[in-house]
Amino acid sequence: MSAIEKLTKPAHLIDMEDIIREGHPTLRLTAQEVELPLSDQDIILGEKMLQFLKHSQDPVMAEKMNLRGGVGLAAPQLDVSRRIIAVLVPNPEDQEGNPPPEAYSLQEIMYNPRIISHSVQEAAIEGGEGCLSVDREVPGYVIRHARITVEYFDKEGEKKKLKLKGFNAIVVQHEIDHINGIMFYDRIDPEHPLAVKDGMLIIE
Ligand SMILES: [Zn+2]
Repeated sequence: MSAIEKLTKPAHLIDMEDIIREGHPTLRLTAQEVELPLSDQDIILGEKMLQFLKHSQDPVMAEKMNLRGGVGLAAPQLDVSRRIIAVLVPNPEDQEGNPPPEAYSLQEIMYNPRIISHSVQEAAIEGGEGCLSVDREVPGYVIRHARITVEYFDKEGEKKKLKLKGFNAIVVQHEIDHINGIMFYDRIDPEHPLAVKDGMLIIE
């Protein structure tokens, strides 16, 4: 059975065993565009990927399923070399620990996503980045665009355009890198991993 057949079975829940780790050749491939109209298989895979992210952020499910928390997942991380990503960025609780009015600042399954424009300004997350396919800490600033406009097809097959900044822009760039065979640490300056370039935005 191929990876995608297993992943899209009705009863299957994606877990850490489905995620391939650095060193696996699929992570270094340029993934194939998905065909439109979307196949049921591609739609179901996208939904399962988003469901995985929800489980990974839910303390009860994450413990039960032994999941690392994640805000993004790309199909190549499941050994499926297709241009599909899912992103789920929660809004923080308020200072009293109440849930935010909107649970997520970004929740989307993107098919054939493409960055069509970006800021000149660069940005990096203060504490560096992590990845579900990388079981180690890699310190250093991952240098990315501060703002992007991304174009993609949603699960209804509608073409969408989204302007993103801050953490959301970083997450989408990390996932789009996966469909292009790029790992986050490729974007860390090996000589000066913590150098702040002129004008670079540091995101807390
Ligand atoms: Zn990753």
